[in-house]
Parts: sequence; structure tokens; C-alpha cells
Amino acid sequence: MFNLHSIDIDIESETAWVQAGATTGELYYSIAKKSNVHGFPSGMCTTIGLGGHFSGGGYGFLMRKYGLTIDNVIDALLIDANGRILNRESMGEDLFWAIRGGGTTSFGVILSWRIKLVRVPPMVTVFTVHRTLEQGATEIVYRWQQVAPKLPKDIFIRPQPQPINNGPNNRTVSVSFGGHFLGKTDRLIQLMNANFPELGLQRSDCLEMSWVESTLYWAGFPKGTSIEALLNRVRVDRSFSKFKSDYYKAVIPKQGLETLWEALMDIEDIFIQMNPYGGRMEEISESETAFAHRNGILFMMLYGVTWSESDGGVNAAARHFELSRRLYNLMEQYASSNPREAFLNYRDLDIGSNKSGETDFEVAKEYGAKYFKNNFIRLANVKAMIDPENFFRNEQSIPPLPMLATH
Ligand SMILES: Cc1cc2nc3c(=O)[nH]c(=O)nc-3n(C[C@H](O)[C@H](O)[C@H](O)COP(=O)(O)OP(=O)(O)OC[C@H]3O[C@@H](n4cnc5c(N)ncnc54)[C@H](O)[C@@H]3O)c2cc1C
Repeated sequence: MFNLHSIDIDIESETAWVQAGATTGELYYSIAKKSNVHGFPSGMCTTIGLGGHFSGGGYGFLMRKYGLTIDNVIDALLIDANGRILNRESMGEDLFWAIRGGGTTSFGVILSWRIKLVRVPPMVTVFTVHRTLEQGATEIVYRWQQVAPKLPKDIFIRPQPQPINNGPNNRTVSVSFGGHFLGKTDRLIQLMNANFPELGLQRSDCLEMSWVESTLYWAGFPKGTSIEALLNRVRVDRSFSKFKSDYYKAVIPKQGLETLWEALMDIEDIFIQMNPYGGRMEEISESETAFAHRNGILFMMLYGVTWSESDGGVNAAARHFELSRRLYNLMEQYASSNPREAFLNYRDLDIGSNKSGETDFEVAKEYGAKYFKNNFIRLANVKAMIDPENFFRNEQSIPPLPMLATH
């Protein structure tokens, strides 16, 4: 698909057709070439493909203001199992509903998406501040859980706790709070002082830049990097990784955070990210698209392990998977339950999977409930209509709804 990566932007109608093989970086670059007051709510990494990224939902730092990527998709071209090319009108609203968050790969091959661009100010503000346990990180993260989902929609703050060595014999956790604000520093400082003074954000922590420059910032490029870097389709730091996810509907108590820090220091080769929800995410109902994790979610946590070729490459996978499972098991008591919800874009075969080439409905119900909650049955129904022979399948695909299964 990577040869299909054209991007056609129409600023007058504030829409674009983007081919599925384009990357988020290419999309951000193309928008910036046409306008400095438009953007698009997609992922922070700039080398992910729009084909897979869009179909699982797609979140980024504009999520609290504008929702997910799929909340801003208005049409699509899809090849079905019979080789027909369908658009929104010819595929019908049920299939168009399913491919927004239901994992397009179960239904067909996306050629391109039509998206609605969103408005951003000419200048935005970003910051990253670090707080160790000794600097009160537990208290701040505890407070963040209560405040972050309720902050004005223009503010997105994501803590990323990581174990570090802070001097000899002092193992600790440092939490980096990455922030994005759709506006200037003066206003951000006012809002932070009023809503989240515990973080102690200072004017000197903040950087003002254009929206497209902020996409480089989030992707980890050094300050001053030219936006041409967004066109680089290959990640510089190539690594292996395994992601798991959890949704949290209740605040993790301080004691739970302390247990989490201890586990991070014990496991070492692991990081977590806490992505705040609320704002626009809360205004969209769970059934409006196939993406069901909406109202009542405080934040989504990513548990990530990454390792390189020199750490053992593929041969070290099992060991790293085990590390992520340890943390995941520990957090069960605090995460959402019945079902324990998971984010489709962090595909995790641990939460239930079929053998490749088979799709058992009962097994699919297990992972289906975690990824899609009550939307799973409707997805299986759409699958039965568009691909009854189950041509498009994988270990965690949507199976066609069996005749007798209604719940
Ligand atoms: C470093 C990194 C950072 C990330 N950051 C974010 C983030 O900030 N926000 C976020 O939401 N997610 C993020 N993700 C997750 C990302 O959204 C998923 O990995 C997504 O699946 C990537 O899509 P892809 O097309 O590049 O991947 P692929 O591995 O190519 O595809 C993933 C799945 O989608 C299917 N697929 C791909 N293209 C098509 C198509 N055209 N039609 C039908 N099915 C298709 C594939 O068959 C496969 O099942 C990140 C992932 C990585 C590795």
C-alpha cells in the first residue's frame, strides 16, 4: 500500500482525500504547505500509515478538542471481497460506520479516506516538564487523573512515567508531563494556575510554535528540525516493540500509584503513557462510530516495551512480552472491568485471539467485547453483510455474525 500515498487538500472546503499508504507525517506536512491555521487530529508518531491508523480510531494531542481521527472522516474508498470499489454512498452507512474504529482490515482494503480538516491557531504552545518521586510526582499524577479529563478542551497533558537512576543508589521514577495547548503561553499559564497549579508550570517551560512544528515536537525531533523531516517514511530509531493498553474509569489511589512505581523500577525495561480523555471524546456517543471507549473514560494507559537488535532482536521478544504482561496483570485491579477495555490500534493477541486462518465466533466475542464493547455484535452483522465468506480475516478480525447469535 505504501505506493498509494497521494494527498489532495482543498482548503476552501477544508477537506482532503488522503490515500491509505500515506503516513501521518506526510499528511501534516501537506496540510502545512497549504495553510498555517489547519491541522488534523491523528497520532503523535509521524511514520504510521493512514490505512491501519485510521481504521482503529487514531488518537493524538488534538483528541480532547476534536475527537479521534475517525470522528473527522467523511468518506472513504474501499475494495470489498468481490473486488468492487465502494464509496460512502455505495457502501452504505452500516459499513461506513464499521470502518471508523472497527478495524477496516475485517471488511476490505481502504484505498483512500476523505477527511475534514480542523482549525488550529497560527501559534500553539508545547511543554515537557519532569517530576521525580522526590519532587512530588505521586501527588501530581494523582491530581492529574482528576483534573486532566476536565481541563479546557484546548489543553492536552500526557504523563509518561519511567524508571531512572537519580544519582548513585537512588533508583526512582521520573514522570515527564508532555503538554499541548491550542493558544499562546500567557493564556496557558493562566489556565494552569487556575486548574492545575500542582504541576507548577512556568513560562520558561513553554515553547510557542506553529501547529505543524508541534507535530515534530511530539514525534521527538530536536528543536529547529525542518518540517521536511515529516516526509521521512522510515523511523530513525528502528526498534521492536510490544504495546498493551487499558482504559481507566476511576482514579488510581495514591497507594496504587506507589505500587505502579515500584513495578516500573523492578521491571525496568518498560514505559507507560497516560492519555487523557474527556472534552470532545465525551460528547460523542459510544455507538456513533465503532470506537466505543468514550464517556466516563478518564484516561487510556499504554504499557510499552521496546528493544533493539542489539538487545536480542526477535529472539528477545518472549522475554519482553513477559515484562509487559507483569505490569498489565498488576494493574487489573484499577483498570476498567467487565469488559477490561483495550485499544484496537495497540493490537494485543494476549487478550484473546483465533488461530491464523480461522475465526471462531466465541473466541472473537472475547476480544471483540474488549475492543468494541456493545458495538461488536453490530460489527459482526456488518461483516455478515459485506463479507459472509470471511475472506478478510486475521487472528483478531470480526467474524460474520452466525444466524442464531443475537447477543
Ligand atoms: C511508534 C508508534 C507510535 C504510535 N503512535 C500512535 C498514536 O499516537 N496514536 C494512535 O492512535 N496510534 C498510534 N500507534 C498505533 C498505530 O495507530 C497502529 O500501529 C496502526 O495499526 C498503524 O497503521 P499502519 O497502517 O502503519 O500499520 P500496519 O501494520 O500496516 O497495519 C495495521 C493493521 O491495519 C491493516 N491495514 C493497513 N492498511 C490497510 C488498508 N489500507 N486497508 C485495510 N486494512 C489496512 C493491516 O492489515 C493491519 O491489520 C503507534 C504505533 C507505533 C508503532
